[in-house]
Amino acid sequence: MKIEKDTVVTLQYKVAEASGKLIEASKDPMVYLHGGYENTLPKIEAALDGQEAGFQVTLQLQPEDAFGQRDEALVRTIPKSEFPPGVKVGGQLEGRTDAGDPHVFHVMKIKGATVHLDGNHPLAGRELRFTLKVTGVRAASAEEIAHKHVHGEHGHHH
Ligand SMILES: [Zn+2]
Repeated sequence: MKIEKDTVVTLQYKVAEASGKLIEASKDPMVYLHGGYENTLPKIEAALDGQEAGFQVTLQLQPEDAFGQRDEALVRTIPKSEFPPGVKVGGQLEGRTDAGDPHVFHVMKIKGATVHLDGNHPLAGRELRFTLKVTGVRAASAEEIAHKHVHGEHGHHH
């Protein structure tokens, strides 16, 4: 079966720096609903469209086609006293952007009474090399299409 709109694609993936240095390799496969539902990067969807199980591709993506440029306005510090209990370095915190929109911030470090946060994606600002291998393609269910995401194993659980 070919990858087209409203198919569910299963992938093994590796993400590396532009130099080829490995950043992350899939332990579990990635499963996504294909067809512009913003479940994966548009450049990845474009490369896979029309392909079948067994297809392999390596894509070198500029930051703007991957996780975006860094936004230094999303780097900030807060006093430790404002910090919710139980959150640690490496964890995440729900905050707001300067425009007031909800946004996830990563806890980078705690220095004295100050907590350093970064709201950028950890891979923002980096040119990345994706190696993808399609291991499965199936038709999406009507419910998955209505929800705009995959259900079941490795998918979305309600
Ligand atoms: Zn759902």
